[in-house]
Amino acid sequence: MTDNIVSIEDITVVFDGFKAVNGLSLNVRHNELRVVIGPNGAGKTTLLDIICGKTKPRQGRVMFKGTDLTRLEEHQIVRLGVARKFQTPSVYEDLSVRENFEVSLPEGRSVWGSLLFRRDATVAKRIAEVASWVFLDSVLRTKAKHLSHGQKQWLEIGMMLIQDPALLLLDEPVAGMSHKEREQTAELLKRIARGKSIVVIEHDMEFVRSIAHTVTVMHQGSVLCEGSIDEVQRNQRVIEVYLGA
Ligand code: ADP
Repeated sequence: MTDNIVSIEDITVVFDGFKAVNGLSLNVRHNELRVVIGPNGAGKTTLLDIICGKTKPRQGRVMFKGTDLTRLEEHQIVRLGVARKFQTPSVYEDLSVRENFEVSLPEGRSVWGSLLFRRDATVAKRIAEVASWVFLDSVLRTKAKHLSHGQKQWLEIGMMLIQDPALLLLDEPVAGMSHKEREQTAELLKRIARGKSIVVIEHDMEFVRSIAHTVTVMHQGSVLCEGSIDEVQRNQRVIEVYLGA
């Protein structure tokens, strides 16, 4: 039995002859909050795309809870418990917060499913619980288009949580958030990571310091180094990459 929820084994991704990811290996443990940093073009987004099945590697494999994901379709990987959030929030603007949660329920994917489950008390309880986790319990009836940018980011995290995934992949979740919203998001991610694993791409080092268990630094499609935030910030090769030396 392994401690890892995800093992990325010697992955290479090639776009038009260019190796965007080059022999990358990475393990993420159960209940770990892993932050991935690195300069633009390092391959961070491609890494998340590989795990969720959006991008297929030329070489290597991705193991998730003992299952080889490498050849599976995106929708199959979602069903196994991997949820992905992109940088720009993607919510249903004309639906209320509650309705956004309802359509995100695994049962709510069909119109009939959503009508049936809307009246289910356990679903109502689940929505209330998730709404309170993501600080949206007071705006359940508000249409998503009237939420602040930060609230939309939270709504999307809530829409992931309602599906009860084992692994959340987040691409810059605090981009565009106020200082206070960043602090709340840090608390939220730490709370989520008590029962789930998270891989988050982030640039804001203050935020990284407030959440990271382990930081992975990527450069030119590979892992440059891994360790605590202090360890990676002291690493001479990391300093050189960030200073462009
Ligand atoms: P990061 O997220 O670290 O900024 P990306 O994973 O987005 O890096 O990109 C890694 C490299 O792969 C970059 O040089 C980028 O231009 C290239 N790349 C990413 N996606 C594609 C694509 N669909 N087609 C061609 N090149 C791509």
